[in-house]
Amino acid sequence: MMRRDLTCPKCGCGQLWNVRTMREEGGVGVPVDLAVTLEEGWQLVPKGRYETLVCRACGFTQWYARDLDGDTQLTSVPHNCPECEAMREFWHVPLVRELGTTGHPTGLKVMRKGIPKLWGEGHFETFLCQGCGFTRWFAHGLDMLEPSPLSGLFVLDEGTCAACASSHRWRIETMTEVGDLGIVPLHVLLYAGALFYHAIGKFGTAVCRDCGFTEWFARDYGRLRHAPRRGVSLLERSARAEAGPYR
Ligand SMILES: [Zn+2]
Ligand SMILES: [Zn+2]
Ligand SMILES: [Zn+2]
Repeated sequence: MMRRDLTCPKCGCGQLWNVRTMREEGGVGVPVDLAVTLEEGWQLVPKGRYETLVCRACGFTQWYARDLDGDTQLTSVPHNCPECEAMREFWHVPLVRELGTTGHPTGLKVMRKGIPKLWGEGHFETFLCQGCGFTRWFAHGLDMLEPSPLSGLFVLDEGTCAACASSHRWRIETMTEVGDLGIVPLHVLLYAGALFYHAIGKFGTAVCRDCGFTEWFARDYGRLRHAPRRGVSLLERSARAEAGPYR
């Protein structure tokens, strides 16, 4: 799979960007780590972080959760993990949330309506492998959707769902979040500079209309540079690994 083989499962490319920590605008004037889950207590406690592998050629993006300790309110279910190549317990996050303009949590929306419509904007649930962090995304609450190019919502008429093989999918042009001053794209890389945020790249998604399984694709990420201290590394499948161990 993607992390073990350093190979894009979509196009076979052996060069992957590793963005070490996914961040969002949290309404507090500096980027915050996108939490795997926000747990209710006497105050809200962010638990876990996400990192991503982004195919340098096609932008296909796989998410991995990390820093999620065992002390969590999440329930766990067994799933097959393609990265571990085994059955593993997966943490279940029923509602993915981010921090909005006021620092208060809000659901990460699947899409946004440009003008008032009847349909909902959807929400995400995730399942995270407890062994390796491999993350599956599912979108829900989109039953009433109709294509709306103005809102960046299109019928995806190529390919099939990797989870249920359905050919009925949506293409959502730009994933967004509630930033410090309003709606902003969710960026591939976001970090604080001396005066401004530095933001690179956006995400589109392919969402199955039958089961909700969601694939992420980065775009506009050509400015990414190998800078481990900044949390970005270019991982390359070695020629030796490609040749196999017995040559
Ligand atoms: Zn690829
Ligand atoms: Zn795994
Ligand atoms: Zn599906």
